Amino acid sequence: MPYAFGTASRDHMKGVDPRMVKVLERAIQISPVDFKVIEGVRTPQRQKKLYAQGRTEPGQIVTWTLKSNHFVDPKTGFGRAVDLLPAPYDWKDPGQFDKMSRAMFEAARQVGVKIRWGADWDQDGKARERGESDSPHFELAL
Ligand SMILES: [Zn+2]
Repeated sequence: MPYAFGTASRDHMKGVDPRMVKVLERAIQISPVDFKVIEGVRTPQRQKKLYAQGRTEPGQIVTWTLKSNHFVDPKTGFGRAVDLLPAPYDWKDPGQFDKMSRAMFEAARQVGVKIRWGADWDQDGKARERGESDSPHFELAL
């Protein structure tokens, strides 16, 4: 029985580039682990708030930039990034992310869309080799 997206995941896919949505729709069908879309399009206001976290506001630093590939791309009118979380998620087991990522890349290959993963920016297939920590993040490689 393949997994399926719930309402919250569907809400987070609104405004996301249809090519990325196509990848997600295929990935959830073939993924060996269930996963959720926890963020799609982000407003500049929300990015500012995230940037303040761990700097001028309490909490851990979660972002290094005021820019974001989660913003709406003015060229397409869509956001081109999503953040995904395996469900249920065990923080001690990054293997869940790796399984989800393999499903994402296989789905992208099948539908003919190029994507990048936040845990493997140089895309050599070795996750987190340079301490990349954005395992939830996937974006269109344009
Ligand atoms: Zn992200």
